[in-house]
Amino acid sequence: MAEFTIVGGGLAGCVLGWALSQRGCDFKIIDKFEKITSTQVAAGIINPITGPSLTKGPRLEEFWDKAKIFYRSLERASGIEMFRETKIVRLMDSAKQAERWKRRMLDPEYTSLVSEEPLGLKNNFNSDHGGFVTNFGAHLNTAAFLEVIKKLLSEHWVEGVLEEPSNHGVTIYCEGVRAIKNPLFDWVKFKPAKGEILTVKIPDIDENRIVVRGNIWLLPLGESIFRVGATYDWNANDCETTRVAREALERRLQKLVSTSYEVIDHRAAVRPVIDTRRALIGLHPGNDRIGFFNGLGSKGVLSAPYLAEQLVDHILDSGPIDPEFDLRGNI
Ligand SMILES: Cc1cc2nc3c(=O)[nH]c(=O)nc-3n(C[C@H](O)[C@H](O)[C@H](O)COP(=O)(O)OP(=O)(O)OC[C@H]3O[C@@H](n4cnc5c(N)ncnc54)[C@H](O)[C@@H]3O)c2cc1C
Repeated sequence: MAEFTIVGGGLAGCVLGWALSQRGCDFKIIDKFEKITSTQVAAGIINPITGPSLTKGPRLEEFWDKAKIFYRSLERASGIEMFRETKIVRLMDSAKQAERWKRRMLDPEYTSLVSEEPLGLKNNFNSDHGGFVTNFGAHLNTAAFLEVIKKLLSEHWVEGVLEEPSNHGVTIYCEGVRAIKNPLFDWVKFKPAKGEILTVKIPDIDENRIVVRGNIWLLPLGESIFRVGATYDWNANDCETTRVAREALERRLQKLVSTSYEVIDHRAAVRPVIDTRRALIGLHPGNDRIGFFNGLGSKGVLSAPYLAEQLVDHILDSGPIDPEFDLRGNI
């Protein structure tokens, strides 16, 4: 019997599975094998400065150090490339935002994140308010990541749905938005966010960095193909693509680039978000044999390796969990 049962093989469950395997643990991952999940659809971007306020997220440097080591180690173990480090070009959306950024540049916490290089964009981008280039950023091909983990941990995978916690060892729930229906965690306040993404072909754009302006980003996949996203719908909980979202994304894209494009794909899924906008990890307050790893939100790729390591250290060695991510401290 496995010492650990991981319920859910998305980003959270896979990263946790790999972390347990590195500690020599006996575990299995039970997954429904759904075709559309948050991890399958995600863009997989790591962007150090985000949102209209141009903010640096908490624990950025620690998360980034762990993430790089983690995804690179998977690449080495599998021989498959899935993690591309790339700078991010952030264009200002308005004069007001450009002013805000000027003030940010007085803060060394922020200056250390940006490069002194010029934007270096060709003229088919609308960069009327200027912008900056980050020192780092990355793209994880999340579909490739799932395939790699499934291959590397193939003997640990079980297709199915776990109805009741296992009678043996610790059961750790990594169910993404499905956790909303899990009675063991009905006190966790989820605030899921449906997101839609387009894939487009833009023959006239030759750019291999991620470009962001306002609430739109352009993620290059090579050969003039880009992903464009993403929407946030806090009221929908389904994975259907909508005309409204497509039109919104196209309007934003037209604000970012001044050249023609062709939409070649459109996908939707629901991000697992908790109302505090922070992920939660740890053991159930009433049962040490039940664990939780969820709420990765829109920064899952960046934070998952750090959080998985904390959770494994906590379960195996009673290591502390950062209070802001500790399930027991956030009831
Ligand atoms: C449009 C969009 C764009 C995004 N872009 C980014 C981005 O650029 N960068 C970023 O970091 N993040 C991004 N995200 C968020 C990212 O997808 C999530 O942070 C992360 O993938 C969530 O992983 P998860 O494992 O918690 O959930 P999921 O990916 O939903 O995985 C949960 C898994 O558990 C399975 N499961 C659930 N319940 C059970 C059960 N009882 N038994 C068996 N199996 C079960 C499900 O089938 C699924 O396979 C985006 C998300 C969306 C929707």
